[in-house]
Amino acid sequence: MNKKLDVYLAGPRGFCAGVDRAILMVQEAIKKYGAPVYVRHEIVHNKYVVDNLKNEGAIFIEELNEIDKSDRPVIFSAHGVPKSVPKEADRLKLLYFDATCPLVSKIHREVEHFERKKFPVILIGHQNHPEVIGTMGQTAKDIYLVENKEDVKNLPIPKDQKIAYVTQTTLSIDDTKDIIDEIKSCFDFVLEPKKKDICYATTNRQEAVKNIAKHCSYFFVIGSKNSSNSLRLVEVAKNYGSEHSILVDDLENFDPLIINNASKIGITASASSPEILVKKILKKIDKYYDINIIESDFEKEDINFKIPQKLKEVI
Ligand code: SF4
Repeated sequence: MNKKLDVYLAGPRGFCAGVDRAILMVQEAIKKYGAPVYVRHEIVHNKYVVDNLKNEGAIFIEELNEIDKSDRPVIFSAHGVPKSVPKEADRLKLLYFDATCPLVSKIHREVEHFERKKFPVILIGHQNHPEVIGTMGQTAKDIYLVENKEDVKNLPIPKDQKIAYVTQTTLSIDDTKDIIDEIKSCFDFVLEPKKKDICYATTNRQEAVKNIAKHCSYFFVIGSKNSSNSLRLVEVAKNYGSEHSILVDDLENFDPLIINNASKIGITASASSPEILVKKILKKIDKYYDINIIESDFEKEDINFKIPQKLKEVI
């Protein structure tokens, strides 16, 4: 007889509204224009999603100059792009659609607003992440990237200078709070975003993991290595009590026997990972254990983002 295993499934988990919309935009564009449709950068950071879209007719590129059929449409990824990218697309006379998540676009508008007010902007985020590159590229004025409290201390801005800050959408809520506290202690006048920039999906997925991590000696986060929100979930599970918090980016090679003698495990899927991958991991574990699933719902989500009018008009 198989050993008993309690499996806590974090809820909510998996696709967020921005990811759903971005994938739908690529699929609708392929339906309308036929293959191939170019996508600038991975539409969302998930290998399974990207491979499926490749099979449907998407070609993924990093820069517009890689496009060799200029009569084909191009879609910009959910992470957002610097202002120079649509400008370049116009110059090349490309038909483009922008799948930037509306919550990332909101941050772009905040940066513009602070630019008009002539405030230097501090961006809390991770260097080289496409969302950060996109947000930095919203202004030609002063914008400073900080990744930790040390970076804040080293900013070349006088203490009495009025400053503003914005954040990447997929950060750790706890780490970001510490960095914001540091900013407030280093500067006399800090203008904050109207609403917190860390998005609802990031917040809910992290809170859901926090609620159950302490029960689970193993915690599996389904997601890709280049996905910021996946990596943060791994950290959260570890910080909130799970002994072994593991990113599962290659389900084919996932060995359920690493669970060994554990009696309770947790599973979540990042905002860019589809639910089908949760089903697949459960199927693998189910072969060796008598599993008892405990669904834990931190928050019900019913947020949807409409596809942009420019694409709606043509489909
Ligand atoms: S994680 Fe948040 S900001 Fe990123 S695509 Fe999803 S909803 Fe948008």
